[in-house]
Amino acid sequence: MMKNDLKRNRAWIEINLKHLEHNIHEIQRVIPKNTKIMAVVKANAYGHDLTKIAKKLNQIGIQDFAVATLEEAITLRKHDIDGNILILGYTDLTNIHKLLDYDLIQTILDYDYAQKISQMDLKEKLKVHVKINTGMNRIGENYQNIDHLIEIYQMKNLQILGTYSHMSASDSKSKEDISFTYKQIDHFFQTIHKLKTLGLNPGKIHIQASYGILNYPNLPCDYVRPGIIMYGVYSNTDDKTNIQLHLKPVLSLKAKISSVREIQKGESVSYNRTFVAKQKMKIASVSIGYADGYPRNLSNQNTKVLVHKKYAKIIGRICMDQLVLDVSNIDHITAGDIVTLIGEKSMIRAEKIAYDSNTITNELLSRLGSRLPIISKR
Ligand SMILES: *Cc1c(COP(=O)(O)O)cnc(C)c1O
Repeated sequence: MMKNDLKRNRAWIEINLKHLEHNIHEIQRVIPKNTKIMAVVKANAYGHDLTKIAKKLNQIGIQDFAVATLEEAITLRKHDIDGNILILGYTDLTNIHKLLDYDLIQTILDYDYAQKISQMDLKEKLKVHVKINTGMNRIGENYQNIDHLIEIYQMKNLQILGTYSHMSASDSKSKEDISFTYKQIDHFFQTIHKLKTLGLNPGKIHIQASYGILNYPNLPCDYVRPGIIMYGVYSNTDDKTNIQLHLKPVLSLKAKISSVREIQKGESVSYNRTFVAKQKMKIASVSIGYADGYPRNLSNQNTKVLVHKKYAKIIGRICMDQLVLDVSNIDHITAGDIVTLIGEKSMIRAEKIAYDSNTITNELLSRLGSRLPIISKR
């Protein structure tokens, strides 16, 4: 018996860690020499398996990680991930001792959040990065509130190791968005400069996520925070970025054929009979559905999958656990054969699947279902 039979039973995700390494080297190729990668591994590493991805990153020298939640951060520590772990989002301050116990870095979300921490009775200082809001208007203390910012840098209980911001339209090529992004960059660096001239230490500074790297690559920062491009895909299909990287997708989505049959002209397929055969055809059911994160709104969109190195079209409604293919032109197809639904070939690239389901790859990949085992490619 093959070792991974249980995991390759019905539907699964395969990750190629060599591609992850390749993508990291591609990013390192275009960022300034003294800038380091802070790998964004939130949401189970965008659906790729948090610990497998982080371990590989550790092995190839990445020492800085960003996650969204306290639980993700603790998972990394429990799996002996080395280095700095920054929580990008909200942590309830009733759990502040966990941040200390696990040696985590918390984002200062705004002045109020900092004040609450400074009023607590802590056994040691909390490691933090201060977030500055330069226009995203989500979290971060406003760059205009320089007096509040100055106070934060002098508060007790805080060990300030970094200062950062986030761009809200770095992927856009519209003139307005580009000038907006340059304003964000200006506000950020001017704020850093003001703090420094007052003798305050902002620590490590960072502002670029994936598209910040691709479109604004030469900023003098200590870190960049790539997420989606590390996994080898762009957010959208038609991205024309200032810098081109040769990315290799890390993730493939696979499932098995469960049943093959013939239907006659006039017969329908799946719920609500949205597909009706125009002639006799051979069809095959696949053991994956929208509960696995494969979007239901790809039903009847001419979406293709790969079987026996040929494309087959999805027909009829995608169900919770299953979907149906037209395999009329594919020979020798039987139950147990493997179908690839997301992968490297053009028609099944994550960018294409995301586009056809009206979203971005970030959402598509991070929503792949928790019942899919994730295995490393051998
Ligand atoms: C998610 C996130 C990133 C990574 O974004 P990508 O577009 O996937 O590179 C970087 N920084 C912050 C603050 C984020 O929330």
